[in-house]
Amino acid sequence: MINPSYPLTDLHRHLDGNIRLSTIWQLAEQYSIALPAENLASLKSKVQIQQKTTDLLAFLQKMELGVSVLASEQACYRVAYENVEDAKRAGLSYVELRFSPVFMAKAFGLDIQQVVEAVVAGCKAGSQAFAIPMNLIGVLSRTYGEQSCMQELQALLTTKDHICGLDLAGDEKAFPAKRFVEHFTLARDAGWQITVHAGEADGPDSIHQAIDLLGATRIGHGVTAAQDEKLMDFMARNEIAVECCLTSNFQTGACTNIDEHPVKMFLERGMLVTLNTDDPGVSGIEIADEYQLAKDSVGLTPKQLLGIQLNGVNASFATGSFKKMLLDCYTGVS
Ligand SMILES: [Zn+2]
Repeated sequence: MINPSYPLTDLHRHLDGNIRLSTIWQLAEQYSIALPAENLASLKSKVQIQQKTTDLLAFLQKMELGVSVLASEQACYRVAYENVEDAKRAGLSYVELRFSPVFMAKAFGLDIQQVVEAVVAGCKAGSQAFAIPMNLIGVLSRTYGEQSCMQELQALLTTKDHICGLDLAGDEKAFPAKRFVEHFTLARDAGWQITVHAGEADGPDSIHQAIDLLGATRIGHGVTAAQDEKLMDFMARNEIAVECCLTSNFQTGACTNIDEHPVKMFLERGMLVTLNTDDPGVSGIEIADEYQLAKDSVGLTPKQLLGIQLNGVNASFATGSFKKMLLDCYTGVS
């Protein structure tokens, strides 16, 4: 599955979808927040997906309980810090964590700019403490509309040098990419790179919009690209990476069965495929599980899996010199 002689990345990992159960429990106690669970075991059944959900929106609802205990900026800092530790424990050589400050702020009406600052500080401290290189991606929660997303963008831009890219997530069908052109123009002007959730809950036109209108060079999920041969070829030719998340795609219903996931087709068409977790805490998985599934359920070969590992470095938003250093570090280890 994972080849330990080469770097391992996770480029699509929501830190607000990966809040530890023990942290949810402790923060609820600290801030006297009532949880719909009397112990950690029952909390687990509420936070983690137990079976396939009906659709993306039902999946996203499972993330609500985790952020419901973020009652202060300190709580946001803690979650960010622990996410970096979790990434290290998962064996990642490099991670890109993403977060939506509006989503994290909403339960307690926190100031979104302070949430951004707390997450940036928590990640920076975690990266130093656990010696793992990382980058942050800001997420605009499209579900709350254009105006909220503009406020979210402005808050993220106040720490623009600590963030490497911008993403659009949430209700893909009701809030298509074409409504956020202005936001992503500003983001590109700020020097950020672009990834967009597309082709997860909507068809290939959503992926076209993300690329053509928002300037995405990576696509989150992109499952429905499989319905459009020209699009797949375009993505392959232009090295527009696809951030595949097998378990998440099954749980949201983006694919009916894991063994029917188009990841194999994407590889065969020469697309830049990466494997990622999406929301490890909500899905109850880690990156190793995704490689295992790709081998056992999808039937990818060791060579294809190694290619995916290397794609994770090449498709990352890290600088060229860092990518080279990361690859050089591992060369000759085996
Ligand atoms: Zn995602």
